[in-house]
Amino acid sequence: MELVGNALCLDFANTVNSRPVARRDWLAVPEQALTWARAAGHPIERQADLTAALPGARELRESVFRVFDPLTRGADPPRADLDAVTAVYADGLAHAALERADGRFGFAWPAPRTPRTLLWEVAASAADLLSRGPLERLGACPSCCWLFLDTSKNGRRRWCSMTTCGSRDKARRYYATRTSP
Ligand SMILES: [Zn+2]
Repeated sequence: MELVGNALCLDFANTVNSRPVARRDWLAVPEQALTWARAAGHPIERQADLTAALPGARELRESVFRVFDPLTRGADPPRADLDAVTAVYADGLAHAALERADGRFGFAWPAPRTPRTLLWEVAASAADLLSRGPLERLGACPSCCWLFLDTSKNGRRRWCSMTTCGSRDKARRYYATRTSP
């Protein structure tokens, strides 16, 4: 599993390995979703309603993807998907409490962490990125469509990861050069 998005909402959108057809989906079954959430640093503690929550989780994921993917090209996201993210964010705010952490306040949710807590955090991450940016640093990997926030100094990141898509492309180009007449 690779977490290369630099934002929870983007890593959440990247829980499928390719689009439009995914060969692996971390939100397909409860065990995988638990593994992903733990690795992403947002573990789900109360798992009773996880199976029932997965279709909604996948729906939110697709909305998050459809919101940020056009923004990587400077285009506008669909209103319906902005509204879908807003609805989860508003639901989250209705259950949140302002708590002090690191010298300022932020919205937090009471323990135990449930599947809904994770979705609220994803929506909050999306709202934060949409409202504060930097949107000009959003990128999409040309090979697998993963989304990322380019935090590199020169702002010229192209790939989701140099160890997967970046190196695959390099190898392909090397091979193409060697075999061209
Ligand atoms: Zn990629």
